[in-house]
Amino acid sequence: MIIGGLEKLTLIDFPGELAAIVFTQGCNFRCQFCYNPMLVWPEKEGKLKYQRDHSRIKEDDLFAFLKSRKGKLSGVVITGGEPTLHKDLPDFIKKIKDAGFKIKLDSNGTNPEMLEKVLEEKLIDYLAMDIKAPLDKYEEVIGVKVRPVKSGEAGAKLFNGVNLENIQKSIKIIKESGVSYEFRTTLVPSLHKKEDIEEMGKLIAGADKWYLQFFKSDTDLVNKNFQNKARFSEKEMKEMLEIAKKYAKKCDVRG
Ligand code: SF4
Repeated sequence: MIIGGLEKLTLIDFPGELAAIVFTQGCNFRCQFCYNPMLVWPEKEGKLKYQRDHSRIKEDDLFAFLKSRKGKLSGVVITGGEPTLHKDLPDFIKKIKDAGFKIKLDSNGTNPEMLEKVLEEKLIDYLAMDIKAPLDKYEEVIGVKVRPVKSGEAGAKLFNGVNLENIQKSIKIIKESGVSYEFRTTLVPSLHKKEDIEEMGKLIAGADKWYLQFFKSDTDLVNKNFQNKARFSEKEMKEMLEIAKKYAKKCDVRG
């Protein structure tokens, strides 16, 4: 696994667990508001782009750390970048589970085959998937070309080139998985509108949990033009929450 970062303790990212966060390197999206730009590009490109050292963490060092936290931490969050792009993800998770930790996996939902695989192998204790926008606005929000929703279309597995049908497949797989899960959406003025909540809600209708997240702009972002831009007000977020509540059993604002 290419590990781009490790947060040694989180009390909030894995419901019910004290956890560490492992950040995998590389993503097929370029979400304009992404505040982890160093993890989005492949390692070398990221270093050049951000002029910051961002050394990879060796797997052995990660497992030595986890061993030292046995009994203190109960879970590991695997996030990115986009973890499901890494072919060795199932083996990596197995090793963490064998070390005695529960797993939460974060995904942008572009690789439903990988989600199916890790679920079938019972490797996941909690899943979180981002719903970035209504399907017709995905391209604008994620900053890469998307392919039209068309069944059986070739190219679904392209690293850069997102097939919207895969987003829909992942939503279905997650909802039917029997595993605890949440959907979450980061809302950015200039990218999202109130009406978009309705459209996104229809995509996940009947879901267990959906969180609306404030946009964080006081840091490095994938699109520097979004830095220090205003976020939605508390009032606007609450109004959008009221719409979201029609589509999921539990909804809240976070961030
Ligand atoms: S926010 Fe977007 S670009 Fe950043 S890691 Fe997540 S999916 Fe990738």
